[in-house]
Amino acid sequence: MRFFGLRNYASRLLVVLAGAALVLPSVCAQQSTTAPASPTPVAPATATAQTDTTPEGAAKQALVKKLEHVRPIDAVAPLPSQYDLLRGAYGPFRANNHLVYYHLDIRVDPEKQWVSGKNTIRFKMLKDGTRIQLDLRDTLAIDKILLGDKTLKYERENGAVFVDFPETLHEGRTYSIDFYYSGHPEETGRFGGMTFKKDPSGHVWINTACEETGASMWWPDKDQWRDEGESMDISVAVPNGLMDVSNGKLMGHTDLGDGYTRWDWHVSYGINNYDVSLNIGNYVHFGEEMDEPSGGKLAMDYYVLPEDLDKAKVQFAQAKGMIEAYQHYFGEYPFIKDGYKLVEAPYSGMEHQSAVTYGNQFKNGYLGVDWTHVGINSRFDFIIIHESGHEWFGNSITAQDSSDMWIHEGWTTYLETLYVEYRWGHDDALKYMGGLKPKVINLRPIVAERGVNAQPTEDQYFKGALMINTLRSVVNDDAKWWALLHEFYQHFKYQNIMTEDVVAWWNQHTGLNLTPIFNQYLRHAPIPRLELLFGEKPGMVMYKWDADEDDFAMPVKVGTADHWEIVHPTTKWQWMQTAVGKDDFKVATDLYYVDVNKQ
Ligand SMILES: [Zn+2]
Repeated sequence: MRFFGLRNYASRLLVVLAGAALVLPSVCAQQSTTAPASPTPVAPATATAQTDTTPEGAAKQALVKKLEHVRPIDAVAPLPSQYDLLRGAYGPFRANNHLVYYHLDIRVDPEKQWVSGKNTIRFKMLKDGTRIQLDLRDTLAIDKILLGDKTLKYERENGAVFVDFPETLHEGRTYSIDFYYSGHPEETGRFGGMTFKKDPSGHVWINTACEETGASMWWPDKDQWRDEGESMDISVAVPNGLMDVSNGKLMGHTDLGDGYTRWDWHVSYGINNYDVSLNIGNYVHFGEEMDEPSGGKLAMDYYVLPEDLDKAKVQFAQAKGMIEAYQHYFGEYPFIKDGYKLVEAPYSGMEHQSAVTYGNQFKNGYLGVDWTHVGINSRFDFIIIHESGHEWFGNSITAQDSSDMWIHEGWTTYLETLYVEYRWGHDDALKYMGGLKPKVINLRPIVAERGVNAQPTEDQYFKGALMINTLRSVVNDDAKWWALLHEFYQHFKYQNIMTEDVVAWWNQHTGLNLTPIFNQYLRHAPIPRLELLFGEKPGMVMYKWDADEDDFAMPVKVGTADHWEIVHPTTKWQWMQTAVGKDDFKVATDLYYVDVNKQ
């Protein structure tokens, strides 16, 4: 991801409790304000319940009706705008084709804060058709769209660009269009999307980070998560003396003879649109290599501002250990042909594929703070460890819809704990995990509505990781767990998947029915609560789960820490004999993320 802030949860909670008639001040609501103005206001369903006979009212109610059946799980999420519906849906004009390749070839003028050029988009038709959907924010001009030398017609609607072809495009055939555009990308979103800044020495510093706003805020593309091309070229012309660092392998640079130099990068893999990145500045470079398990060499390249070179050489020494830890658990770095890069940027960090951007002040922790407050985070650079973890979960394995983004964030937060375990052992990993608990809100489900450009709440990070740790305890066999983790990643690498794929895989490979467990953590707000009922005399305790999933069943360790006993509670009362009294009777809540209610 993208980066969460150190937020004031209390104020959020208060507003939530103030009533469903308010738009939540959550991540979701904040992000939806970054979308362009839309004729459909973002408003909760309850606010539109009264009859409104105006055309706008009727349209609003039609939208609410449409949404009722797609959003049963998170009734308090803000309603998507028309923009969100077009961005989020994998509609017929997206589904009729498969992306093959992009060549983004642009010029960036720092003085005018202007981008111009073209994206060559190659795609294969999956069925006959005369129209495809691409995306480009309305703030940018479309100069022309060409198929060969033929100018194509198009319609723009709230960020979507429907491109029409004069003749039928045929199923199975590959086509290539050149999409010319220009304009000033409007700064929007947490990191600005595309920002035109100066570095502390006064040099031009232009960067992109657009996961939440979408890549189409600065370049034309098929702006969704499900479909990725197979490779990409990125060519960026910038004034002489500046450099552009993008994703992939640096192929070279060419002096264009008009005061500009073009920097060419080649990406040898599929890439998420939001991962495509520009970093234009007065960069200096240093690098190293490390051995890959396959016998190859991984090129590791670092681009920083000259004044930070010495600090970077010290801090980036952590990169090799990070790669080594993740390779240990999951297998080799996913983008060897493109190499691994850290690129200094003016915001905290982002997982841009093979070119992770870094702005963590060359300090351990998160912006110098031990932000899980348990004394572990200060041992490592949070941004190097977290954002690079996304190379495995987020960039290699990608969710098909932002609704299921926990596949990126829950897993990558879990990867942080694996890094801790690899370096300092299981006890410290559990301690680190414990530091995640106070960050969980449990007010809304993790998985958001599909097809409406929804962003899950921040619980996707911490609760997601705690759920995965719980799963390890359910498996209760570490040798098996490590093998499963490795196999899970290897099975889905380079794929775009949904929560159902994750759950089905774990069910199949553990032989357990884990669906109610995944559902409880991902699709309901509360976590399971273990009800313990003690009699007046010691010797017996009754137990059951209080959960939203009727068939919720999960083993759990109870008793005392030096003598855990595994019980198998369901949502029906059972009992066990125990010599431990009510006060001393414990539940292993560091191994299972559950609530406990003793009576
Ligand atoms: Zn992240």
